Amino acid sequence: MAYDLIVVGAGVLGTFHAYHAAKAGLRVLLLEKDRYPVGATVRNFGQVVPSGLAGRWFEHGRRSLEIYGDIQQETDLTIRQNGTVYVASDEAEWTLANELHDRYATVGYASKLLSKAQCLAKYPSLQPDYVRGAIFFPQEVSVEPDMMIHRLIAYCQQKLGVDYRSVSTVIGVDEIGTQGVRVTLSNAQQFAADRLLVCSGHEVRLLFPEVLAQADLVVSKLQMLKVAPVTGLDLPGNILTGLTIRRYEAFEECPSFASLATPEPLAELKKWGIHILFKQAIDGSIIVGDSHEYAAATEQEDLGFHTQDYINNLMLTEAQRIVQFPLVVQQAWAGFYSQTKAEIFEHIITENIRVTTGIGGKGMTSSAGYAEESIGQWYR
Ligand SMILES: Cc1cc2nc3c(=O)[nH]c(=O)nc-3n(C[C@H](O)[C@H](O)[C@H](O)COP(=O)(O)OP(=O)(O)OC[C@H]3O[C@@H](n4cnc5c(N)ncnc54)[C@H](O)[C@@H]3O)c2cc1C
Repeated sequence: MAYDLIVVGAGVLGTFHAYHAAKAGLRVLLLEKDRYPVGATVRNFGQVVPSGLAGRWFEHGRRSLEIYGDIQQETDLTIRQNGTVYVASDEAEWTLANELHDRYATVGYASKLLSKAQCLAKYPSLQPDYVRGAIFFPQEVSVEPDMMIHRLIAYCQQKLGVDYRSVSTVIGVDEIGTQGVRVTLSNAQQFAADRLLVCSGHEVRLLFPEVLAQADLVVSKLQMLKVAPVTGLDLPGNILTGLTIRRYEAFEECPSFASLATPEPLAELKKWGIHILFKQAIDGSIIVGDSHEYAAATEQEDLGFHTQDYINNLMLTEAQRIVQFPLVVQQAWAGFYSQTKAEIFEHIITENIRVTTGIGGKGMTSSAGYAEESIGQWYR
């Protein structure tokens, strides 16, 4: 079969490129090296939170909400619209929440400030001593990260005719004159198309290693926990807390951010890039995280494959300061993503070959909208 576009990598970034290309009528081949995706796209919280992003990424996130909603109408992608809350724990964070509320009012993005009493009434499992107030975004959604991508891929296959092949590691790319591109898999199979897009996540050694080595990509390792369901506990939506207010780009743009000081008890948490987020899964278990350690993408092995108890204990201690229910750890894992100071790495190898990776910690939120623009511009 002749293809118009081959996409390498079936994480959320590659799959949404395949989705938009197929919707535009292109014949698409999506190639994934693993038996099913096991990268950043399945190891995350599944929080779709444009409210935390700045600039064009906020707009891509906003558009992504619409795209997720559209697909959810046709197939169950596990989208749940329970909103996002950022719980402020002190005056400085509460001031930032108020400033963000004002800013979003000017761009017509709905948010609501919750007093301490309102916040505790809506989220009764929070520790009253922790809560100063909160900002709530009713339109934001969450997905089940271990299910969403598989369902999106199935939808792309069944409804849009995308040819998806797993256990298909691309190890070579050749241009066929000016006619197009041929890829070679590790099993020597070959496929050709007019164009090729590589969305290989934090994998930087298989394709265009010399380009990716020069791309200033940094890999972040994040530690995550899943805690046991608690009978009767209802913790809807995306729950983000004070350290997130101190970390996310959207708050950085607020006037008082420049004078924000780190209280001494938070210094050790900040050192490990810890902020505390909660996301209750459909089965009642709760994902709690996360921490951030960094290494150059070419030296990512130095981050190790283990999780450190010390970091998990820091996260659990801070999480227990925020919620009243017991945190009984069922699973711990590490996730990895690549990022760049330029917000994303977009590289044109030739007219017909592009590499796009390094979307960082915003991929579940903004890939759907970003990929729509990216395909639109390439095929304009
Ligand atoms: C712990 C954690 C929590 C996060 N929480 C959130 C969140 O709540 N909200 C949010 O918006 N974002 C979140 N993120 C970020 C988000 O998960 C990432 O931005 C996103 O998943 C990146 O998608 P990707 O497709 O670029 O990479 P990946 O998901 O890593 O996918 C890349 C794919 O390419 C494949 N591949 C690589 N090379 C080849 C090759 N040569 N041939 C074939 N296949 C290949 C890989 O096997 C992989 O499946 C989180 C990330 C982590 C790690």
